Amino acid sequence: MGRKILIIGGVAGGASAAAKLRRNSEEDQIIMFEKGPHVSFSNCSLPYHLSGVIKEAEDLVLMSPELFLKQYNIDARVNNEVIAIDRDNKNVIVKNILTGKNYTETYDKLILSPGAAPIVPSIPGIEQVNVFTIRNVVDIDKLNKFVKQIYTKDVAVIGGGYIGVEAAENLRVAGYHVSLIEATNQILRPFDYDMVQIFHKEMVDNQVNLIVGEKVEKFEQDKVVLSSGIKINASVVVMAIGVSPETYLAKEAGIEIGETGAIKVDKNYQTNVPNINAVGDAIEVYHALTHTMTKLSLAGPALKEARSVADHINNKCSLNKGHIGSSAIKVFDYNGASTGLNESLIKALNMKINYGIVRVILSDKVGIMPDAAPMHFKLLYEVPTGKILGAQAIGKGDVTKRIDIIATVIKFGGTVEDLKDLELCYAPPFSTAKDIVNYAGYVGSNLLNGDYKQVNIDKVRELVESNNFILDVRERGEYARGHIKSAVNIPLSELRGRISEIPKDIPVYIHCRTGQRSYNAVLALQNLGFLNVYNITGSFLGLSFYEYFNDKMMERESIVTEYNFR
Ligand code: FAD
Repeated sequence: MGRKILIIGGVAGGASAAAKLRRNSEEDQIIMFEKGPHVSFSNCSLPYHLSGVIKEAEDLVLMSPELFLKQYNIDARVNNEVIAIDRDNKNVIVKNILTGKNYTETYDKLILSPGAAPIVPSIPGIEQVNVFTIRNVVDIDKLNKFVKQIYTKDVAVIGGGYIGVEAAENLRVAGYHVSLIEATNQILRPFDYDMVQIFHKEMVDNQVNLIVGEKVEKFEQDKVVLSSGIKINASVVVMAIGVSPETYLAKEAGIEIGETGAIKVDKNYQTNVPNINAVGDAIEVYHALTHTMTKLSLAGPALKEARSVADHINNKCSLNKGHIGSSAIKVFDYNGASTGLNESLIKALNMKINYGIVRVILSDKVGIMPDAAPMHFKLLYEVPTGKILGAQAIGKGDVTKRIDIIATVIKFGGTVEDLKDLELCYAPPFSTAKDIVNYAGYVGSNLLNGDYKQVNIDKVRELVESNNFILDVRERGEYARGHIKSAVNIPLSELRGRISEIPKDIPVYIHCRTGQRSYNAVLALQNLGFLNVYNITGSFLGLSFYEYFNDKMMERESIVTEYNFR
């Protein structure tokens, strides 16, 4: 005899759970409630409708209730909102939004996947602007139609997380004057401050008016007023400051809410109430690296959790080692991906962890391939074990391949030594024979062995301002095209003949374009008896990206004569 399984939410987690439940059993009756008019749409693709990459709003919808019924024998009820859960009598009350009528459905098992709702704070004057949020197909269709008929082209996006950045990019591509306003000092928190400057520059280069470190104080007619008093023209405001788990129903039903404000579940995604499971953006999950409970608004985890619940309901066991948080984004011509811990998270959580940093810049393909481009890669590892903690990659090429490798290595508890040993696919159009991931392993192992010392690009301004000895080992022509103002140029090719020009009694900070030649120079000098030499990790290319945005925004004096971004 089959069971009656109800699912609340018909998109990522809900639709996945339903399909997997059906694959597990033909017996069960499966009903999926969705309060919106669509099930199973691609949330992640929504912003791409604004630029026309996805032409029709309907193309965002992947499955219809009719197909769910035909292909899976799943009763998918759109425009049906579950408004209460009666845990004692094992039923839910559902409101048919089209008819306004309520009805009751009983359950043997109930799965909650109601997601998370965009946060819209009550900022003074909010009624004076046209505010939009992006959560579903209806939202994006409304926003897209509205921007097309406004009399100005001024749009403000508030919040520099993934959704805000994607909305800003796609609106800019569509030809709008876009301001992106972020209250903290950077967009995209999965990337550390030193890495994210590449994205800051990319935004500015594409004429997005990027404002960081400014809160929205209030709204006036067609204007956003910032904490500094600056007024930004905006006929449309896209609010993307974050999401809040949909916990109302759960709370009312006495389902336990965790310390993060999301639904508390165990390893099998069971709530404290028997026969009620929960998955997706509405729940909190165990972070396998911070060892804390966390909220993770990502599609991949939602789908996997849903699958796991469907299995557990059918007495199949699945392993849950916790989450590490892997994500990716495209910002105009650049791609970014990250996984695991980054420095800002470690600091924010005050984690007592001793870690080292590898920062490598390497061509993403064999350098002579026409579309080869530098990839910026940052790896965090534990000291002294070498265990990989996290990584971030930004470049024009395939960053996700590299970060997916690191995410896999983290899941298996791997170390920097393991990265050296990875045998990865190679042909010139794809990568280099020794991939940046292998390089990160070499550098990490060298640093762990104490073979040499390094400073990061975020320390260079300080070094310049306190008159430290900075040695630029690039060739003369490269130096002439742009250099750190106080740097002395002795190309690697001339180093051994000009050794007397390098002081032995003070620290020597060495850089080249990307860090390879300077690494060789560091080792050469060490072997020649220099004890106090440092490689500037990130080198001139990384430094140019690191300094550029703040130089422009703060109108401060640059520490370089010219930047180099190639
Ligand atoms: P959802 O997929 O949001 O589904 C929840 C559904 O439940 C909603 O449709 C809601 O209407 C319905 N619902 C809620 N309450 C009720 C009720 N009481 N009765 C009936 N129905 C109800 N993640 C990535 O990993 N990569 C990305 O690139 C990415 N991009 C994104 C871009 C955008 C614009 C958005 C909005 C999200 C993006 N995400 C991305 C996040 C990802 O979409 C979510 O993590 C994922 O959809 C969560 O799945 P879920 O099932 O928990 O919630």
